[in-house]
Amino acid sequence: MLGLKFFRSFFATSSLVLAGFALAACNEDGAGQVQAGPAVTVLTTPSRVAITIDDLPYVMPSKTSPEEGLRYTTQIIAALQEHGIVATGFAVGQQINPQSIPALQAFADAGHTIGNHSWSHPDYGTLTRDEFHDETRWTDEILQQWIDGPRYYRFPFLREGETEAAKTAATRVLEELGYQNVPVTIDNDEWQFNADYLAALEDGDEAAAATIARNYVAHMQIRTAFFQSLAIDELGGDVDHVLLVHLNRINADHLGTLLEWYDAQGWTFISVDEAITHPVFSRPDPYAGPRGLSQIERVLGGKRD
Ligand SMILES: [Zn+2]
Repeated sequence: MLGLKFFRSFFATSSLVLAGFALAACNEDGAGQVQAGPAVTVLTTPSRVAITIDDLPYVMPSKTSPEEGLRYTTQIIAALQEHGIVATGFAVGQQINPQSIPALQAFADAGHTIGNHSWSHPDYGTLTRDEFHDETRWTDEILQQWIDGPRYYRFPFLREGETEAAKTAATRVLEELGYQNVPVTIDNDEWQFNADYLAALEDGDEAAAATIARNYVAHMQIRTAFFQSLAIDELGGDVDHVLLVHLNRINADHLGTLLEWYDAQGWTFISVDEAITHPVFSRPDPYAGPRGLSQIERVLGGKRD
């Protein structure tokens, strides 16, 4: 759950207002509850955000038919198009096959960028330097036909190394293979909501699914406000943001609602190319450890609740 520090910084920042806060689903431990909370209003200062979508072609390929995967992709493309967004999707190499390629191709054909999200989605902390090199290179080879610009990499689970030596080794491998790491600023554990959403739909419980979807969108708004507040309070100003979502059913059905909220808050959608030129992405990152963190937390030395 969000800690006291969050509320202090929240109310100390006059541009951020949170009313009627009583959300059923919160970070870490709450996604399993489906009680509807009172209406939540989250206000942010207008900022800029790049949309990144992990686990292309689509999540849980063992449980998702190619037709469903393509349908989710098409729905997400439509939501992005509505707002003129050029997104970057990060693909898992071993999940690219003749059945899933139409979804990946549709994403690329819509003008979005495809990046590398490893071969088998391992925790980097479990890999040797050579295994990390192989994981990155194999996916690079399979992605050749879809990459015609900068090469972008996203660490699975956002875990970039548990020691300074491991972080340096990964940085060197990425440099050697011509990749730039793309951290996120708005981290959110949104995948938990998808699991509950799918379970509710499978049970035929449309009311529960709708509640989970509302809680999902509210959760994402709160995480956005949290990280913006953290940047303003502790980095001396807001940053250009990078949002992480996944290519999954809940985003197929509800990413559009979230994007409309950003729009209504006065945010501007930018590309990853543009976002990562913000100085926050080249500031020293003193965090070495097992957690996957926002870039804002990394430059502050660790996780903030
Ligand atoms: Zn992933």
